[in-house]
Amino acid sequence: MPKDRNAVRTNALPDLRVDLVSDTATRPTAAMRAAMAAAAVGDEQRGEDPTVNLLCGRVAALLAKETALFLPSGTMCNQIAVATHCRPGDEIIAAEASHIVTSESAGAAVLAGSFVRAIACARGIFSGDDVTAAMRARKPKSPRSRLVAVEQTNNRGGGSVWPLAAIQSVAKSARSHGLALHMDGARLMNAVVASGIAAKVYAAPFDSVWLDLSKGLGCPIGGVLAGPKAFIEEAWTWKHRLGGAMRQAGILAAAGIYALDHHVERLAEDHDNARAFAARIADIPGVRLDPAEVETNLVFFDVEGTGRTGSDIAALLRARGVRIGVEDRYRMRAVTHLDVDRAGVEEAAETLRLVLADR
Ligand SMILES: *Cc1c(COP(=O)(O)O)cnc(C)c1O
Repeated sequence: MPKDRNAVRTNALPDLRVDLVSDTATRPTAAMRAAMAAAAVGDEQRGEDPTVNLLCGRVAALLAKETALFLPSGTMCNQIAVATHCRPGDEIIAAEASHIVTSESAGAAVLAGSFVRAIACARGIFSGDDVTAAMRARKPKSPRSRLVAVEQTNNRGGGSVWPLAAIQSVAKSARSHGLALHMDGARLMNAVVASGIAAKVYAAPFDSVWLDLSKGLGCPIGGVLAGPKAFIEEAWTWKHRLGGAMRQAGILAAAGIYALDHHVERLAEDHDNARAFAARIADIPGVRLDPAEVETNLVFFDVEGTGRTGSDIAALLRARGVRIGVEDRYRMRAVTHLDVDRAGVEEAAETLRLVLADR
C-alpha cells in the first residue's frame, strides 16, 4: 500500500532533540518571521512584488549576473535552467553524484527531453579533460552535447568545494566545445564561506547559477536563479508552465533577504560543528571517515565495519532523540545547520558512540 505521507507528517517528530538529517530542517527564526510579516507585497506573477524584485536584484548583484528569478525550490531552479538551455535529444554532462542525476525524479528527461551523461569522479568534482572525454561526436545518431552542470558544493561528493582552478578548467573545455554552463549553487554560500572566494568569482564562468534559500541559509522556501536577461525571460515561461509563478511571494522573499543579511557569515559555525562532529566520531570502532574531507556542513561516514546497516543505526539513534540520514546500506550523512549548536553535535556523536557500543 502506498504510504500516507500526511499521516506520517502530522505526527511531528516527537522527542527529536538533534536533527542532523538535512540543513533543510531549520525553522525560520523569530527575526526572520518578523521580516516576513513586515514585507511589502504585490502580485509576483505580474512582476509587481517589490520584495521579490528586491531579492532578485540582491542575488543578481551577488552573483554578478544581469537578472534573476525567484522560484519555489532548488529543484525547480535546476529543472527550469536545464529546460531553458536544452532541447529534446540534448545531453547534459554532470557528476554522477549530482542532485540533477540522483534526486530530481529524472526531470531532465521528463521536462527537457534530455539525457544526463553522468561522470564518475571522486567527490563530485571533474576536470576539463573529463568534459572533453564526455563530448559526443556530431553524428545524427549521437545525442547532442549541450550543457555542463557543476554542483558547488557537491552534496553527495561530501559537501566538497570545487576549487576555482577545477571550475576554470571545466569552463574552458566546455566553451571550446560550444557547451553552455550551469551551476547548481544550492550550497554555493557554504563554498564561499569555507574558501573566502566571492560568489561572483565562482559564478563568473557560468551562464546560469542559482542559490537555495532553504538549505543553510535557513529560509522556509525558495531558490533564486540568475543569468542573462534573455535566459531569465525564457525561464519565466517555464516558471509559469510549471505553476511556479506565485502571488504575494514577498512574504517568502523577505526571508531570503533577511538570510542574505544575517545567515551567510554564520555558515562558518556550521562548518566548525561539522568538523567537531567528524572528529568525535572518527575513532568509533567500525565507523570510517576522513575528518580532513569535511570541508563544509556535510559529514558522510561509512558504518560497514560496525556490523550494522545505516538504517539500523538510524533507528537506534532516533529512539534516543537523534536523527542522522541514511544514504545507502552502509553510508550515513549528518548535516549541521542553524538549528543545531555545538552541544547538539556533541550529543549526536556521543549517542552514536553509545548505540554502537551497546550490542
Ligand atoms: C537540495 C538540493 C537541490 C534541490 O533543492 P530543493 O530546494 O530541495 O528543491 C539541488 N541541488 C542540490 C545540490 C541540493 O542539495
